[in-house]
Amino acid sequence: MEFLTHYSCTLCGETYRPPVEFYTCPKCGEKGILDIHYDYERLKEKLSKAYFENNKNYSMWRYEPLMSVSKNHIDKTLSVGWTPHYKSRQLANRLNMEALYIKDEGLNPTGSLKDRASAVAVLKAIENDNRTIACSSTGNAASSLAGNAAHMGLKSVIFVPKRAPLGKLSQLLAYGADVISVEGDYKAAFQLSKAAINHFGWYNRNAAINPHMVEGKKTVAYEIAEQMDFNVPDWVVVSVGDGCTIAGVYKGFYDLHQIGLTSKIPKILGVQSEGCAPFYEAAKENRDLQETAEDTLADSIAVGIPRNPVKGLNAVKASGGAWITVRDEQILDAIALLGKDEGIFAEPAAAASVAGLLEALEQNLISPAQTVSVIVTGNGLKDTKAMDKCGIKPKRLKPDLDLLIDYIENNEGGRT
Ligand SMILES: *Cc1c(COP(=O)(O)O)cnc(C)c1O
Repeated sequence: MEFLTHYSCTLCGETYRPPVEFYTCPKCGEKGILDIHYDYERLKEKLSKAYFENNKNYSMWRYEPLMSVSKNHIDKTLSVGWTPHYKSRQLANRLNMEALYIKDEGLNPTGSLKDRASAVAVLKAIENDNRTIACSSTGNAASSLAGNAAHMGLKSVIFVPKRAPLGKLSQLLAYGADVISVEGDYKAAFQLSKAAINHFGWYNRNAAINPHMVEGKKTVAYEIAEQMDFNVPDWVVVSVGDGCTIAGVYKGFYDLHQIGLTSKIPKILGVQSEGCAPFYEAAKENRDLQETAEDTLADSIAVGIPRNPVKGLNAVKASGGAWITVRDEQILDAIALLGKDEGIFAEPAAAASVAGLLEALEQNLISPAQTVSVIVTGNGLKDTKAMDKCGIKPKRLKPDLDLLIDYIENNEGGRT
């Protein structure tokens, strides 16, 4: 963190010099989410393209100078980041697209992009001499925190809403977390975690509150840029719940542009579920966010009261991007498309970005000639129930070769 200069409040603009021991702006309270700033002039001297060519660390820590953690323990964390950025063939062909890329974040150690934030959280906890770390989550922030904490020998206390899918819950239990399944929705889990964190003084990994989480998540943008030789795409597509991931995506591209490593910031397409779209609606009506229902099967983006409204809205606005919504059926179709065209299995919230791309092409918001990178934020194995709803079933057959021959010949070997 040698290049970190100061923190500023996203509401009142007040600045704070490090060390900063609070999570949010003392003047504005919980809504005063902080942003973290760096000395771009000095970073320009350090971070040339040659710096990256000679950098042997293939994890998110290859960007350590651009981050807000001390480098003392970065060699001890789970190996987060440097996930593949595939150039799509089949799906691109199907959509007549010239250049479609897929960033598979499901390959992170606990299976989602959240690992980028959790890896930072465990290091910050250690920096603060805090052995217990807590969060509330719809699932991935929790399973990710539990795994990353376990690897560093820390304790984790996790507050989950009742609806968390079994895959994510199983991960928590396997990682040895203290799991509190709160009878209620995400809001209830969040409130209880907040009160408990205050009471016990645990380190707080709640993404919106803790500005370091966006600083971890932004590494996904650095990787996309570097994996494209710093020729960034026209559009980056990402699904949105609390708004921290999209904020991180923007911040990452913003940093690189400030340092002069890239010539532009991609437009960012924020994808929400039609049944839970507070960002989309606020942007459309040009007003503040309002609480909405959480009516979607994409549990990771079922956030009726997003905790990071300012940074989330700003990501789309400042990048010249757009918001879009998709129906649950579109998400299920996108799971199937990604699976059969790309061999990538995504959980619903992750496939939502692909559904959003399809919808944006349909609406002529994105042209097939533009270069697009879609972030697939989490692994499909976390929520296998969603697959049932896709309506794709195995063929039931008696053990008889003739029946099989008949089936294969009449179905071109199965699905097309
Ligand atoms: C958390 C999450 C998101 C959304 O990130 P926010 O920071 O809540 O906007 C999207 N997809 C997956 C798989 C997630 O776990």
